[in-house]
Amino acid sequence: MRAIREIHRAGEPHWVGDGFPVRSIFSYDGLGRELSPFLLLDHAGPAKFTPTDQQRGVGEHPHRGFETVTIVYEGELEHRDSAGNGGRIGAGDVQWMTAASGILHEEYHSPDFTRSGGTMEMAQLWVNLPARSKMALPGYQTLLNRDIPAVTLDGNAGVLRVVAGDYQGHQGPARTFTPINVWDLRLNAGGRVVLPPPDGHTLALVVLQGTVLVNDAETASVDEVVVFELGAGDITIAASTEAKVLLLSGEPLNEPIVGHGPFVMNTNDEIRQAFVDFHQGRLGRPAA
Ligand code: MN
Repeated sequence: MRAIREIHRAGEPHWVGDGFPVRSIFSYDGLGRELSPFLLLDHAGPAKFTPTDQQRGVGEHPHRGFETVTIVYEGELEHRDSAGNGGRIGAGDVQWMTAASGILHEEYHSPDFTRSGGTMEMAQLWVNLPARSKMALPGYQTLLNRDIPAVTLDGNAGVLRVVAGDYQGHQGPARTFTPINVWDLRLNAGGRVVLPPPDGHTLALVVLQGTVLVNDAETASVDEVVVFELGAGDITIAASTEAKVLLLSGEPLNEPIVGHGPFVMNTNDEIRQAFVDFHQGRLGRPAA
């Protein structure tokens, strides 16, 4: 069985723009080495928004050196970026944006959701790129709910959606730069599952809703992440309530992490260069 290293709790809530009341469940500030290639995970909501005419969200800002993965659980988002990509994603959909050499983008509630109001919940994961790919061309993948395999777990335990990687031969639709699994699980109260993450992968279990007992030993609740030791073996998750968890596994990059705001590179010089390029307009302009 894969050993648990620690359970880490989210920081205080803060707003990202006026659209996303967020708790950062982990970040590379404290857990960069332990969780490589994963840099950060923000959990937004669930939060109720009243109907309005003014789209809420976060305006134009840059990124360089990594990927942002946005999983929508409730509500609807709209995205637009300087590479000319964009679109709407609703409940169950995932946006996998590769910032790489640089992108400017906006993240807003969709016009329909803005007008109707309602509950918004999403998670945004930052996935680091290996040094050799940090200056690759930007990319954008819309992963629709219907294209994400949903595997029914034995014993009425729940459902596992394969966003990236592979679970028992079910292939996730995301194209990734390094070997990664993103499994999105919904567990029924009383459900218990044994999962086989790849040996040698970084392994983390993020609880977005409910309470789970991990390896029949440690309890983790909403907005906590269970960080495992590098190693081998299965893990068990038992849900005492209905639960929503994300299992993240990936090959560790073992490269220096130097980040500042929206940029994550390997050296201070590369961060300085990112600011120069941004201010000189080399990260592009959003499509009108
Ligand atoms: Mn962003």
